[in-house]
Amino acid sequence: LPVLAIVGRPNVGKSTLVNRIIGRREAVVEDVPGVTRDRVTYDANWRGRRFTVVDTGGWDPEATGMNLRIAEQAQVAVELADVILFVVDATVGITDADQEVGNVLRQSGKPVILAANKVDNQQLELETHAMWSLGLGEPFPVSALHGRSSGDLLDEVLDKLPETPAETFGAERGPHRVALLGKPNVGKSSLLNKLAGEERVLVDPMAGTTRDPVDELIELGGKTWRFVDTAGIRRRDRELQGADFYAAMRTRAALEKAEVAIVLIDASEPLTEQDLRIIGLVIESGRAMVVAFNKWDLVDEDRRYYLEKEIDRQLVRTPWALRVNISALTGRHVDRLVPAIETALDSWATRVPTSRLNAFLTELVQQTPPPVRSGKQPKILFATQASTEPPKFVLFTSGWLEETYRRFIERRIREEFGFAGSPIEVTMKIRE
Ligand code: GDP
Repeated sequence: LPVLAIVGRPNVGKSTLVNRIIGRREAVVEDVPGVTRDRVTYDANWRGRRFTVVDTGGWDPEATGMNLRIAEQAQVAVELADVILFVVDATVGITDADQEVGNVLRQSGKPVILAANKVDNQQLELETHAMWSLGLGEPFPVSALHGRSSGDLLDEVLDKLPETPAETFGAERGPHRVALLGKPNVGKSSLLNKLAGEERVLVDPMAGTTRDPVDELIELGGKTWRFVDTAGIRRRDRELQGADFYAAMRTRAALEKAEVAIVLIDASEPLTEQDLRIIGLVIESGRAMVVAFNKWDLVDEDRRYYLEKEIDRQLVRTPWALRVNISALTGRHVDRLVPAIETALDSWATRVPTSRLNAFLTELVQQTPPPVRSGKQPKILFATQASTEPPKFVLFTSGWLEETYRRFIERRIREEFGFAGSPIEVTMKIRE
């Protein structure tokens, strides 16, 4: 979901405004410095559009050992947000701190909406004109208390929020989109036929510009799935399929449209460069992944164990990918594909609540502190999941974390919150 971050000094009425935006009263907390709140992100819905609201003023300084200065707070907001709502207090006017925040926001180039809060009368409304001096465009007078213009303010926010794929394909986004990938002759069209049982295939020429059907809708496990770009699979022009350049292009295009990829690999032959290249393209795309080893019927019973070990070794870059051994020919374990895809998609869409993430990391860091660098002990000040599909985490730190330590954190986040079948990303931002 797109992210709206709210920035502003304590006491300007941020949390009251947050409540207006999310349309709930539960989160009302007095906006005084040091007040503890266990949530900083909220799901909001305005005129049918969903977005996430991050209240940057709500971070709990006790739990994370952090007391961000206001400009730093603004910097964090800039990094997390698609749109920033900067709240100032009309009854106080522009303070030095506001000025500082204004500078950070202006330089970021991100869309900013400047809200002058507590405009409870005509006189104050006139005074908001002085706020043009921040260089953030027209100040938007609101009174969070009376709900004055907060609807208009939200319209303004919606205007500036980008349409994300997740949102466009949201709850009503239709069947999940699957890309079936693999080098020629690995058994893609055999599998497609097996899955579809031929007559149940609904050809969907919607996106097709040629006479080729592009996507096929297939019913599996009581659900409809959209297999994208199947024209290339069905087509018999093997030479074209085999050409590396076109193959990569087609794979990229399919991944672009898909949420999850099934990478088909021929288990009866050694893994090839081409197989690994396809897996590389999936990793690059950030999509969920299931690796299916096909033609398992051709693998001798007594070679299977050895082959599994060999595969483990070769797929060491993607230990998280879900794996199934199937035979498109006999139908062996083909029914395990759907649960694997579903698990991968669930992981891909998982959102870890900020409070849980921070509680987990606080404990983890206590048990295993980051290695000291240049005589300094780096600290993780705060962490948040910046996005889903794929899940991306940002660690705000007081110094460089060793790469091995960053990877350790990534591994532990995986173990703790379960991301089978999905890539995750853990990056750090240093606050010095
Ligand atoms: P595609 O190029 O990936 O679409 O591959 P095809 O589906 O056309 O399959 C290539 C060849 O492999 C065909 O001769 C299939 O019959 C065969 N094949 C596909 N899946 C299996 C399998 O699970 N076991 C065996 N033994 N052969 C298979």
